[in-house]
Amino acid sequence: MFPGDVPEIAPADPLDVLKRVYGFSAFRGRQGEVIDHVIAGGDAVVLFPTGAGKSLCFQIPALCRDGVGIVISPLIALMRDQVEALKQRGVRAAALNSSLTREEFLDVRNALGRGALDLLYVTPERVATPGFRDMLGRARIALFAIDEAHCVSQWGHDFRPEYRELGQLAELFPGVPRVALTATADAHTRDDIAAQLGLSAARVFSTSFNRPNISYEIVERDQPRQQLLRFLGRHAGESGIVYCLSRAKVEDTAQWLNGQGVRALAYHAGMDRETRDAHQDAFLKEEDLCLVATVAFGMGVDKPNVRYVAHLDLPGSVEAYYQETGRAGRDGLPSEAWMAYGMADVIQRSRMIDEGNSDDDVKRVERAKLNALLAICETPGCRRQALLGYFGEAHPGNCGSCDSCLNPVETWDGTEAAIKALAAVFRTGERFGVGHLVDVLVGNVNDKTTRFGHDAMPVFGAGRDLPAKTWQSIYRQLLAAGLVRVDHTAFGALRLEPEEARAVFRREREVRFRKDRPTTGKAARAASERAASARSALEGDDKALFEALRATRTAIAKELAVPPYVVFPDTTLVAFATQRPASRAAMLEVSGVGQAKLERFGDAFLQAIAAHGA
Ligand code: ADP
Ligand code: ZN
Repeated sequence: MFPGDVPEIAPADPLDVLKRVYGFSAFRGRQGEVIDHVIAGGDAVVLFPTGAGKSLCFQIPALCRDGVGIVISPLIALMRDQVEALKQRGVRAAALNSSLTREEFLDVRNALGRGALDLLYVTPERVATPGFRDMLGRARIALFAIDEAHCVSQWGHDFRPEYRELGQLAELFPGVPRVALTATADAHTRDDIAAQLGLSAARVFSTSFNRPNISYEIVERDQPRQQLLRFLGRHAGESGIVYCLSRAKVEDTAQWLNGQGVRALAYHAGMDRETRDAHQDAFLKEEDLCLVATVAFGMGVDKPNVRYVAHLDLPGSVEAYYQETGRAGRDGLPSEAWMAYGMADVIQRSRMIDEGNSDDDVKRVERAKLNALLAICETPGCRRQALLGYFGEAHPGNCGSCDSCLNPVETWDGTEAAIKALAAVFRTGERFGVGHLVDVLVGNVNDKTTRFGHDAMPVFGAGRDLPAKTWQSIYRQLLAAGLVRVDHTAFGALRLEPEEARAVFRREREVRFRKDRPTTGKAARAASERAASARSALEGDDKALFEALRATRTAIAKELAVPPYVVFPDTTLVAFATQRPASRAAMLEVSGVGQAKLERFGDAFLQAIAAHGA
């Protein structure tokens, strides 16, 4: 639709806009504070987790202030949906990017010049061009919103050099408020945002990063595909993401899943752009698709009903894990984060660090980050507490929705076992990897143990009392506890951390290990019972009506060529199914129904509800 066709929404009070445009009755968390601050002309740095409602923090001020809000967003492919969602709400929004035709470009430029836009989405590259700056110079600007602001930081994994240029906006457009937003929780990135974007004096708004609707489970990988399939069994008919480390594994896994009857598509940076965009689009528009992807996928994807995020490989850091899992459950409904990992991941990740071309200081930080993640994987305590603790946020633990809390892990005094495991490393000269060390401990006579004369050492067979699998877990936990490290200059050999290991040898330091537990069991079952989707939260006839409403939504979305959630999110359909509004006035009371959507879609849904009741 041509932006000029939509009538202007009169500048108004933010609460009124919230109700009229978005159909929500109250601000969430600190939204209201940010909005008031920006409307008054203040700069802001907004640090809220995914799903907290950051978009409203710049959209509403843009609607309440005079002029157009310029939104800088990194991904062209996602701008379209964001703009579409705004248009469906009656907001005069447009995007300016390289995918526009000349004519479309001129339309947007004219609309901007006429003051006929409320929000304009642009890429950071575009902002740096003289042509665009010239266009802006002639427009009235309400604010600049810098979305995914962590892209400015080299510490994040989404570094985009063009973001650096945005620091100039303050001098170029003095007096125009700037809002930077991110869901990245680490302190280093936050400091970078303030410094690089010239926002040191801006007010910082942050909230808890806890995502109470996401449950966490981390399992030891033994038969990864079967484990994944069992996990996906809990999410039949739902959408989710499966992250893999390599492109090849992405392709293989997607293909295998399709063979198993799970609808899956692959996504990675090595695919041609067209296929990649088509797969992303399918994921956004369809409701039961599993997207198997590398970390190239996900930033800025605002599909609200991603019900699960699974990791088949260890992510790069706790930050990455939190950001990737955070893509689940934007709509606030129960969602699952699941990971299967093993020693091989630790070796592989350490190798990636060692072989990378960062300097030694950066490598040291990367190793520390990997260990922090490993510690979360190996903790016998509450995962949520450990995760939030990493970001400096206190949580009392016992969250009730992580595998440790649901199925408490037993620990045992492992000091003697630790001494044996460390002795095996030391006696064999700190030159061997875990596989061989375990062979030595359990007394496996093979080529290698004989060739190096390890079968004649006192430590050979000293660990026969425990199974090989337990020793592997012990080594992982020793790594997580910082008692050993992986040395890649020696092909993944374990080396002692001398001081820490000495304290154990001298029995000055007690070591506790978590007991292994079966990978399918109470926790897995409890999680599957808990993983209630919007659909299964409904009962009987409400559920049937929900399905009918979904069909109505699908038909409308197809016709408009937009993702279904742009019409209404699941949460609104659930409310329709349970509250069954019978008039336009009653429908307007439902959360998520604003004036424009009522006019556009209200009757279709009212009819569906009436037809169901009849
Ligand atoms: P973020 O960008 O922080 O991840 P979004 O802006 O995408 O979050 O918002 C997440 C979801 O919450 C969206 O579906 C949005 O419509 C909804 N939402 C935001 N603010 C409110 C509110 N005040 N009341 C109800 N729902 C809200
Ligand atoms: Zn917990």
